[in-house]
Amino acid sequence: MASDFEYAAVAVEHAQRPRNLGALDPCDGHARVTGPCGDTMAVWLQVGDGRIRKASFTTDGCGALLACGSVATELAMSRTVAEARALEQKDVLDALGGLPEETEHCALLAANTLQAACEDYTSRGRSEGQDESTAAGSCASCDSSSCSAKDRRQNESDQEFADRQALERRLCRIRHKLLVLSGKGGVGKSTVAANLAVSLALAGQRVGLLDIDVHGPSIPGLLGLQGRQISVAGGELVPVRMTDHLAVMSIGFMLPSLKDAVIWRGPLKFNVIRQFLKDVAWGDLDYLVVDSPPGTGDEPLSIAQLVGSPAAAIVVTTPQDLAIADVRRCVSFCEAVSLPVAGIVENMSGLVCPKCGERIDVFKRGGGKALAEETNVRYLGAVPIDPAIVVSGDAGTPFVDRYRQSAAGQAFADIVRTILAGQGPEPLTTTTKRES
Ligand code: ADP
Repeated sequence: MASDFEYAAVAVEHAQRPRNLGALDPCDGHARVTGPCGDTMAVWLQVGDGRIRKASFTTDGCGALLACGSVATELAMSRTVAEARALEQKDVLDALGGLPEETEHCALLAANTLQAACEDYTSRGRSEGQDESTAAGSCASCDSSSCSAKDRRQNESDQEFADRQALERRLCRIRHKLLVLSGKGGVGKSTVAANLAVSLALAGQRVGLLDIDVHGPSIPGLLGLQGRQISVAGGELVPVRMTDHLAVMSIGFMLPSLKDAVIWRGPLKFNVIRQFLKDVAWGDLDYLVVDSPPGTGDEPLSIAQLVGSPAAAIVVTTPQDLAIADVRRCVSFCEAVSLPVAGIVENMSGLVCPKCGERIDVFKRGGGKALAEETNVRYLGAVPIDPAIVVSGDAGTPFVDRYRQSAAGQAFADIVRTILAGQGPEPLTTTTKRES
């Protein structure tokens, strides 16, 4: 209860006389984050020799948020950017001598904003001194005469042309886009998408993982990123950086709570997905892995239309006949929208009894392989049922990171090896060729 809580003197001092208030100009890293309570915090950083020389903040929030911003920027100063980025809610709370439970989220917002400003600093450096927003706002580096973004289309307004150019500039910096699709829900599509993205990142690839399931985003939960928020820096959405090689963006970061239901109409979904592709500061990526909702509805259609080429679908199925029939529809959908199919993954393919070692084919086996042959699509492999996948997913720890040696871990490794072996402008054998 707030009334029982005794504020430490240091918290009162920071709330009444906050340090480091106001913007910094020039600045080397900046982010603005809105917390679930609707309050916003902005942080600016000046960095020299990899250390934070000056950090400042502003907020439209309460006294607790002022105290958190003040102490978080104090904590950041003189640390390296990596050290400041690692500061957490607990560090801010500890430095303030604690806060009442109902305002502890202020410390999370301050830590998240500081972290996002550090990531902004890092991503500016990653683009070799070139400001990401500048790179996104200029086509000067592209000298391709065949680029479809060069010329205005018939009946295209100024705004539409500018938006299309911005989208294509962004996508130009992503070498491969893999859309993970499934005919129906519950076959492990999100699990496959998350573990593919983590495996590719562990293999040294620069990876973005985009979760466009607006009705049930599960990627934040699978990767232990619940509660993280999207920040805006330089007019761009800054993805949540899970590791140096893996950036994650999900509609789940925008919903105040997992309990919140959002009613999305088709055009709104299209616009949100477009914004995720156009306005997210992905930087240069080797792979963008997209976790799309099941079926052949608005979201898969939107992403297939927007993502450009080269892009390819990875279709996830379970082995039983019912799932296979849905996947057949999914492959036809890809053909209809001229999206090449990179391959089929058969998930939950058999269970090896942990006690006796006998293999039990719970949902049959081999349906995915047979369908791959029937539709002339590459078969990428089979991932067995493994209870550790459920436990890891529920705990938010990437399965492939922890259980590399397991049969399922090896199956993911084989799939990723096949994908990497096909690196190039057209990554894998495909059923259809896309028109540009
Ligand atoms: P989808 O995205 O297709 O709806 P999910 O990835 O959310 O499916 O997976 C549904 C459930 O199945 C989750 O609880 C997940 O942990 C579990 N799961 C997925 N693949 C496997 C597997 N190979 N072995 C055991 N459980 C799995």
